[in-house]
Amino acid sequence: MTEHGTAAAPSRSTPSQDGPDEGDPRAVWLDLSSEEQQACLRDQGQPPFRAAQIREWIYRRYAQRFAEMTNLPRALRQELDRCFRIWPLEPLAQVVSQDRSTQKVVFRLPDGQTIETVLMLYRRRRTLCISSQVGCAMGCTFCATAQGGLARNLGVGEMVAQVLYFARYLADPQAGPGMAVERPTRVTHIVLMGMGEPMHNYRSVWAAIRLLTHPEAFGLGARHITLSTVGLVPMIDRMAEEGLQVNLAVSLHAPNDELRSQLVPINRRWPVEELLAAVRRYVDRTHRRVTFEYALMRGVNDSPALAHELAQRLQGILCHVNLIPWNPIPHSPFQPTSPQDTRRFAQVLRSHGIPTTVRLRRGIEIDAGCGQLRRRLAQQDQAAA
Ligand code: SF4
Repeated sequence: MTEHGTAAAPSRSTPSQDGPDEGDPRAVWLDLSSEEQQACLRDQGQPPFRAAQIREWIYRRYAQRFAEMTNLPRALRQELDRCFRIWPLEPLAQVVSQDRSTQKVVFRLPDGQTIETVLMLYRRRRTLCISSQVGCAMGCTFCATAQGGLARNLGVGEMVAQVLYFARYLADPQAGPGMAVERPTRVTHIVLMGMGEPMHNYRSVWAAIRLLTHPEAFGLGARHITLSTVGLVPMIDRMAEEGLQVNLAVSLHAPNDELRSQLVPINRRWPVEELLAAVRRYVDRTHRRVTFEYALMRGVNDSPALAHELAQRLQGILCHVNLIPWNPIPHSPFQPTSPQDTRRFAQVLRSHGIPTTVRLRRGIEIDAGCGQLRRRLAQQDQAAA
């Protein structure tokens, strides 16, 4: 794989030796619970500390195969490699933005499905945007991922491995140039804002979050993880009871039902008032500030009148609004809002006392919206067939 790509030329990798072959029958080690891992090692006649040794290799040294784990008995390494693969991902294509601040990788999964993961560099942050599903069932009308529907949920290992892949990349000074970052360094933040609706794959997403935050696994602080939802109300209530300080972001995109139902069809099931009531309950329970994401589309949801309406609806909620310049999708009727109108929208919100930021536009030339690069590769494959 390489490096400085543009939207016209994502570079494709040749399948690596370490990656999974399609049809590989081996189970995925990362999909096992720690109890299942312990039981497996016990069955091999291994002492209890072996599980901790393996965790150390996976979560601190980002080993991709048991063969790398040189302090394990050779016979055990061979047996584990025979039965398990650690990572269920194979990098298929990679693009780096021209300013070298954003990298998107399309991974192939063992069943041939593909997902995207994006690494973004900020001044002090290395933020990873991971996928939680193959495709998405939510059908948001402005989203590239929605266009193919939902294929399936991702497993725990498939989510954790997206993080470990980039953790390995950032830790390895030999990993090739690519991004403008000094290595070794670490993933500092994770956002579940890639392909899929994380709340629609709730159980596996939270199992992955527990591994990513557990001190004996990946060990990232919960406050450094953000889960983004389009508004599955019962799951927001459930998240309030999880007892981890993971950040909640709600993709709102419109302040009223008439407009929001056009953009976000799930709004017909849980309209704005019900959604905001769930957010209020969440804040009451957790005392944590919620982020409302609002993708600005020209002439659709970016008028000052809508900004006033939004500000009024959010009054009294401990929140912050993140305005997102919408990433254009080919053949979409939507257009991004101009920088001037974006500033005007933000000013209206701030004039009502709503803390508001405008998200930096990232990787515009690398199909930055979720699902865009994967979709383009699939179209290229179809055209070539
Ligand atoms: S915007 Fe998010 S929730 Fe909506 S269809 Fe796209 S991936 Fe799914």
